[in-house]
Amino acid sequence: MPKRMEGVFQMSNEKYNDICKKYSVDSLVIFPMVESVTAVYGGPINFLGNVLPSSERDGCFFLSENATFLSRADNSLFLFQYKKGQERTSIVGCGICESHGEKAHPDEGIVQKYYRFVPETIKVFDNSISLKELQSVSPDIKLSRAQYVDFKYKSAICSLIDTRLNISKSFSKNINIALAPKHIETMGDETYYTCGNCEFRFKKAPRCPECGQLVLEQDLKG
Ligand SMILES: [Zn+2]
Repeated sequence: MPKRMEGVFQMSNEKYNDICKKYSVDSLVIFPMVESVTAVYGGPINFLGNVLPSSERDGCFFLSENATFLSRADNSLFLFQYKKGQERTSIVGCGICESHGEKAHPDEGIVQKYYRFVPETIKVFDNSISLKELQSVSPDIKLSRAQYVDFKYKSAICSLIDTRLNISKSFSKNINIALAPKHIETMGDETYYTCGNCEFRFKKAPRCPECGQLVLEQDLKG
């Protein structure tokens, strides 16, 4: 069964620093997302942009069984770190954690630990933030394990986030309006689409796994 998607990707003029103030953010965390977790949901872009803010998930990011909670997770700005295949590790999105707890995972039914992110604060970046850019703000940042970043860098990091949100706005795209694939190829039994939004090539699916674009299904028999 396809999962219900309610893309959030909302564009807003609100500066991320103001969003942090609204939710009394008082710490800053770099948080690695595990590829095996996000792969189930078509990659980090779809996971952060569509699954996590959905009403079913309500911002709850479930953790693997043995994970321990960060001591200062609540009221923290999380920078979501991700490494895809051979690509360099980078920051692909962010969100504000307002609470944590344990409850049944909506898909797996097992009680798991979770961080809850305020859905409207979850942002996905069109262009991820590189380690080099982060280090231009705070030279001691390394991308490895979950870590706190000195809170004095919050404003500078929010400005970095704003540059990504402005880029999103200039495309003014709504990934929930179905878009025909740019190309359609058939290889054997498989059909491949080239996304009409970001030009990523993928095996036929209802949404582009790279940018979350809803695909206008084509009648291949013509
Ligand atoms: Zn795409």
